[in-house]
Amino acid sequence: MPELPEVETVRRTLKNFILERPILGIDVYYDRIIQGDTQLFVESLQHEIFCDIDRVGKYLIFKCQNHAFVSHLRMEGKFHIVESDEPVSKHTHVVFHMDRHQDLRYIDTRKFGRMELVSLDGYREQLPLKKLGPEPFEITTEALYERLHHCSLPIKTALLDQSIMCGIGNIYANEICFYMHIDPRTKASRLSRKRVDELRKVAIMVLQSAIEKGGTTIHSFDANGIHGLFQVQLKVHGQKVCPVCHHDIKKVMVHQRGTYFCPQCQKKRY
Ligand SMILES: [Zn+2]
Repeated sequence: MPELPEVETVRRTLKNFILERPILGIDVYYDRIIQGDTQLFVESLQHEIFCDIDRVGKYLIFKCQNHAFVSHLRMEGKFHIVESDEPVSKHTHVVFHMDRHQDLRYIDTRKFGRMELVSLDGYREQLPLKKLGPEPFEITTEALYERLHHCSLPIKTALLDQSIMCGIGNIYANEICFYMHIDPRTKASRLSRKRVDELRKVAIMVLQSAIEKGGTTIHSFDANGIHGLFQVQLKVHGQKVCPVCHHDIKKVMVHQRGTYFCPQCQKKRY
């Protein structure tokens, strides 16, 4: 599943290809990708111009002159820019026809992704975005401490709770706990202000460095499009051996999510 850094890279890359370009027409091949009325979605957006792309957590917001829509890639969603005469594959669900005989196509083998019209001026205050907490880049230590201090969840699970802080998925939650030397099963409420301050900085560092790597990995759209997780060096998630102490990495389930940690380096429970 794409996480915040991947979605940010998709945003930056797509901007280079679609800004200032008109939407000449839209074909929807699979209705359920569109939340709400498909006809309204199409009628509102065709003849618009892509003006900007914003991101909140793992959501992309495509801003046009009069309308906007939000897109969540979920498990497998990706955008491709292709020549208009290229045959539409069976996993292509939405096609935005642009100028210069090119399309922006939404491809999703699992069909879990969603698009939805939102208000151009008020999307942050509207569902689905209004239920999201601030990003690690925005939240203050005090606000995060308040939220975690009253939270009975394990810290790993609290990091995944998008209403506390948005944009961290399973992979980076594991990585953040590793950098914090904390046992991921530790209750979030046990963290002191000082540790919460460290946590906030570690979260920013982990996401920021992944965004920077993404920015250098993906230069353009090719046949594979842009999607998924790119070449970020992960310390603990999906790993067998700890890169610091060489102890075996342990995998356990925490609230039904695969959780990787080094029992040697991550002994701290506060
Ligand atoms: Zn270790």
